[in-house]
Amino acid sequence: MNIPLLDLTGEINELWAEFQTVINGVLRSGHFIMGPNTAAFEAEAAAYLGVKHAIGLNSGTDALVIALKAAGIGADDEVITTAFSFFATAEAISQVGAKPVFVDIDPLTFNIDTVQIEAAITRQTRALLPVHLFGQAADMTPVLALAEKYQLRVIEDVAQAFGAEYHGRKLGTLGDVGCYSFFPTKNLGAFGDGGLIGTNDDQLAEFCRMLRVHGARKKYFNEMIGYNSRLDELQAAVLRVKLPRIDRMLELRREAGQRYHALLAELDDRIVLPGEAAYGRHVFNQYTLRVKTGKREQLQQYLSGQGIGTMVFYPLPLHQLPPYAGWQYSLPEAERATREVLSIPIWPQITPEIQEQVAAALKEGLA
Ligand SMILES: *Cc1c(COP(=O)(O)O)cnc(C)c1O
Repeated sequence: MNIPLLDLTGEINELWAEFQTVINGVLRSGHFIMGPNTAAFEAEAAAYLGVKHAIGLNSGTDALVIALKAAGIGADDEVITTAFSFFATAEAISQVGAKPVFVDIDPLTFNIDTVQIEAAITRQTRALLPVHLFGQAADMTPVLALAEKYQLRVIEDVAQAFGAEYHGRKLGTLGDVGCYSFFPTKNLGAFGDGGLIGTNDDQLAEFCRMLRVHGARKKYFNEMIGYNSRLDELQAAVLRVKLPRIDRMLELRREAGQRYHALLAELDDRIVLPGEAAYGRHVFNQYTLRVKTGKREQLQQYLSGQGIGTMVFYPLPLHQLPPYAGWQYSLPEAERATREVLSIPIWPQITPEIQEQVAAALKEGLA
């Protein structure tokens, strides 16, 4: 058996001819940066998400950094976020000179526990930065209410949840700004790095557009210290092939998620299946279960021996990573999640047969 955590070859094979055509087109044009594909992709992504402005960038990490910077967040400011995410979430906050303040998670969804946010707000707090982890929305209604009450910005980390929704609205469009990633493992993956900012705020959008090209509105007339962070033409051309199919891909991810729910239900004394909150539509960028037996490492090793790829997202909570480890937080749910979680193979084209093999191996491994 050889079942990777993620297999992109199905989609690449399916769309091979189209990718060839658009990539050849970019090569023939000789135009690689800030050309027609990037502009067209931005317009198409804005229409898909239902936002006024979409700004193509180098990566999801840069999207977070540039969004924070454009919102005027910097030294002496605090930004409240979840303790259970990829490092880039906190890193971006630190990168603009601000301080990340970590809040524990809701054990059902792995997302920020909104009940605990208010206690973390201080006079320095400038923004709330919820992450929509694994393809599932954070609970945005209380986040938005707190932002209104305390006059805070809301910056959404949508790196893992492009196309997912909260009460029927696309994630990343509920707060002030949404930050997306097109890293190949994400829902809408490029053939390299890429990212996007989506916003309805004209002023924020203008700042973001300047910041991605060295702080210039007009070339060589730089007005502020910025970045070099552009989505290139090859990536934009690839993304334009994939964007019209994203809803179908998310539907397939949901179907695969439901199939695992059914296949694994009988193991509920030993594992906890991913919880789905009623307010959203989980699109399963990852299918992340919890191992209740305390033997996650053994299970992972067993599966690896069977040729099945798994991953622990994430083995440490953000507050226990070296750059933040001195801060002495105690966030028990985030810490417990890091000891229990295991992500198993999922991608849109995964077949029922592959999922049955994964489920059978899980059963044996947990026996
Ligand atoms: C992937 C990811 C990022 C960073 O995106 P890149 O495009 O890899 O820079 C940020 N936040 C989360 C939650 C992610 O999963």
